Amino acid sequence: MTNFSDFALAEPIQKLVAAGGYTTPSPIQQQAIPPALQGKDILGIAQTGTGKTAAFSLPSIHHLLNDKRRAGRYECRMLVLAPTRELARQIADSMTGYSKGLGLFITSAFGGVPINRQKRILERGVDVLVATPGRLLDLIDQRFLTLSKVEILVLDEADQMLDLGFIVPLKKIVPMLPKQRQSLFFSATMPKTISQLADQFLTNPIQVSVAPQSTTAERVDQRVTFINQDDKQRLLKDFVNNENPDHMLVFTQTKHGADKVVKNLMAVGIHSAAIHGNKSQPQRERALGDFKKGKINILVATDIAARGIDVDGITHVINFDMPNVSEQYVHRIGRTARAGASGISYSLVAPDERQFLRDVVKLTGVKPDVIALPEGYDEPPREEVAARIYGQKPKKYGATPTRNGPPKNKHSARKGRPGGGGTGRGGPGSGAGAGAKSDGPKHWNNGAKSFKRRQVRNADA
Ligand code: AMP
Repeated sequence: MTNFSDFALAEPIQKLVAAGGYTTPSPIQQQAIPPALQGKDILGIAQTGTGKTAAFSLPSIHHLLNDKRRAGRYECRMLVLAPTRELARQIADSMTGYSKGLGLFITSAFGGVPINRQKRILERGVDVLVATPGRLLDLIDQRFLTLSKVEILVLDEADQMLDLGFIVPLKKIVPMLPKQRQSLFFSATMPKTISQLADQFLTNPIQVSVAPQSTTAERVDQRVTFINQDDKQRLLKDFVNNENPDHMLVFTQTKHGADKVVKNLMAVGIHSAAIHGNKSQPQRERALGDFKKGKINILVATDIAARGIDVDGITHVINFDMPNVSEQYVHRIGRTARAGASGISYSLVAPDERQFLRDVVKLTGVKPDVIALPEGYDEPPREEVAARIYGQKPKKYGATPTRNGPPKNKHSARKGRPGGGGTGRGGPGSGAGAGAKSDGPKHWNNGAKSFKRRQVRNADA
């Protein structure tokens, strides 16, 4: 199937898909839409950016239109569960677009905003409800929603649901659903806990799978710089000043860290916004909206808040802190490789984050290019970085690094990590030549001037 018209989707849906500019179904759409149209359960392994929202939305909209039953009071015909508010809203927006003018009532319900409006909407009944599990249970407890008439259930980003501790709410939700229904279950990864969860939701599912973890990662020009934690803020400022990135997403490990980055950028006149769990829903929406519209070029996010960020054209992803779960790295850098696009990612790796980088390389099989620090920055304590990360052939990546001393392993444990970075000291600076993926040495540049090539650790030849 290479065209949407090859699917047995109703004509008006086809038209909306074409109007939305989609010409070719993505691989997950090619695999999932035909069985979903036949009413089969689906177990989909696909990460964000693969087009999975349309993969589950289009056949579902087709079903809802085919049997134009009106939802009764407090009922929904289709329930989509998503881990975060942003993702819930994003899915509801996408579904509204895919069914524009077709008379379906689609709404979302999530925490962080007053519940009363959601209650009023549900009172009348809706065709599609996209919800986060916590708010969904609140609405059910308060008797403003019953799941007894759900015809189609979608569980999106199941692995993230588990990470966020939604396993208990999900287990509570399962028995409230009618046995007779279609279930579509999506997860970026499929460890045992997820497949056990899937078993509870699905009956004889068709398994579809795209883009093994590494595929997205391979499309991204990945770079890494080894740096002291305390120098990260300065390097980031230098990078922004020199590169002027168009659409840059910066990831920190903590909420506090995200705020700190915004504050430090602000101190040198660089506007950015943070999006994380401590921000109110309106604040999150404003930040995301400003970023989407290009009012700000930099959005600083924690992993959880970033989950629903669907912004096309992200040019740079910066791992200000390395994620301590490797899959998260793939999700993060995947933000710049949406819908087949490619982009650049930089990871700033402090000495105690090196193990995280090793884990990432092991997972993705992709070795980021090492960018040397500009002059004026202290080298982080040395260890056998390249040899340990890249196996036994550091030469492949450049001049034989001169490293002193035996490898230290004291930072290897997956525990305690630094907060959101050190103190910003400002200063002009750095920035790697964005876009150019050369075999030559890569450096954080000082404006137009290249930093003197350093034949220290990690330099390429
Ligand atoms: P998703 O993985 O559902 O978050 O989708 C990622 C992005 O791809 C979204 O911006 C979609 O609008 C876009 N998209 C989904 N399907 C297609 C398609 N068949 N052709 C082009 N873009 C698509």
